[in-house]
Amino acid sequence: MAGLGSPVLAQNTSGTRKVRASGADLSNPAQAYPKPPFPKQQQEWPGLVSKMQPRPDHGEESYKGSGRLEGRKALITGGDSGIGRAAAIAFAREGADVAINYLPAEESDAQDVVQLIRKAGRRAVAIPGDLRSEAFCQDLIARSVRDLGGLDILVNNAARQHAVDDIAKITTEQFDDTLKTNVYAMFWLTKAALPHLPSGAAIINTTSVVAYDPPEGLLDYSATKAAIMNFTKGLAKQLAPRGIRVNGVAPGPVWTPLQPSGGQQPEKLPQFGADTPIGRPGQPAELAPLYVLLASQESSYSTGQIFGAVGGRGGP
Ligand code: NAD
Ligand code: MG
Repeated sequence: MAGLGSPVLAQNTSGTRKVRASGADLSNPAQAYPKPPFPKQQQEWPGLVSKMQPRPDHGEESYKGSGRLEGRKALITGGDSGIGRAAAIAFAREGADVAINYLPAEESDAQDVVQLIRKAGRRAVAIPGDLRSEAFCQDLIARSVRDLGGLDILVNNAARQHAVDDIAKITTEQFDDTLKTNVYAMFWLTKAALPHLPSGAAIINTTSVVAYDPPEGLLDYSATKAAIMNFTKGLAKQLAPRGIRVNGVAPGPVWTPLQPSGGQQPEKLPQFGADTPIGRPGQPAELAPLYVLLASQESSYSTGQIFGAVGGRGGP
């Protein structure tokens, strides 16, 4: 509201926040980023950041670190784009070395992230490969540990989301792909990582607002997000005595390549995020601070929790 000393800014249509939102920032979150309608667009799965219009903001120009993860070693799946890219940039600028996993088709997006991590002065490790394979998941952990010199943050963030409006049209192959990518990979990676994780380590799983209120067109995907939320809470209890915390992040609608590459029905994409009280989708940069907080010992009493960033409706 005007008159409370908060500057009323014109809507940011460039897609990029120039200055990090901070305690002193009183700009209106509803106006901070582009709002619907968005241009019609479609990409082949898994989609690329470089082809999105407008370009998402991952904090490239705005995220400022302050040593909150100094010397830490993180693996982020789906670290090439979207929320995973924003977490990778933030972790590196907070002082962590970062390994990212992604699909081979995403190499160009991944290389952009590698450059950003190196620019922050940290070690970047790029490991492409398909998480639907248990053998690859085991190899991914082994290579991350070898190339980072250890591992103390695991972010299970990669996911497959393919919107289908009728259960009759969901193939067994799709159901299998969604469960393998979103649930099995989290299980395989966590199991393989645990022998390497010291006390003080953190596991962060990306769930979703749909875990709490599934829409009609995302049956398989929403079921996996509920499973991730539940697994997070159970595993947290098991690992608490070892000093390993396990938490989840539940995003609402976020402007990432997953959406124009089949995550949404193409005709719905122009209005993406319009139904949130904030009136727009979130940007990946707006999720990154939650991942930093949950990775850091600053949140040492938080485990088995899901932290939401949903634009005002639903969630944990
Ligand atoms: P994104 O497309 O940028 O990231 C998803 C990543 O998953 C891809 O970059 C890809 O590298 C990876 N991936 C998919 N299948 C894979 C496979 N078989 N092997 C290896 N990697 C694979 O999209 P995003 O929105 O940033 O997604 C990140 C997380 O956020 C996901 O868990 C997603 O479910 C969750 N999420 C997103 C939204 C949203 O609106 N964008 C909302 C809630 C939750
Ligand atoms: Mg990607």
